[in-house]
Amino acid sequence: MPIDATQPYDDQNIFAKILRGEIPSKKVFEDEFALAFHDINPQAPHHILVIPKGAYVSWDDFSARASEAEIAGFVRAVGHVARESGFVAPGYRLLANTGMDAHQEVPHLHVHIFAGRPLGPMLA
Ligand code: 5GP
Repeated sequence: MPIDATQPYDDQNIFAKILRGEIPSKKVFEDEFALAFHDINPQAPHHILVIPKGAYVSWDDFSARASEAEIAGFVRAVGHVARESGFVAPGYRLLANTGMDAHQEVPHLHVHIFAGRPLGPMLA
């Protein structure tokens, strides 16, 4: 079910549980600002999710409330994961679904990284 991106943060969401180590994940990268792990239901040969460590519902919530250090740290983490995974030369796609119409399902900000095949033109 898609979520309302204006809802308050729910610390029982699945990615909060992954961050606390209550649910396992296939970790790709972690630093003080971000955790990256493989999507459980990959939509491309490589499908990685990158999430901030802070409690933010969505891109909107993060961009409005996060500190400069958190924003810089998160953006750098996404770039680092893509680079270290070898995605830059063949190319990759970033996606951050926000709210109902975008069908955001997990109410903790996540950026999808898709790579590993030609991804075609962007879908609106
Ligand atoms: P959204 O639609 O919110 O942008 O994407 C949520 C993503 O989280 C989906 O691609 C889904 O497969 C992934 N996902 C949902 N639950 C889990 C989980 O427990 N572990 C992992 N690794 N991915 C999950």
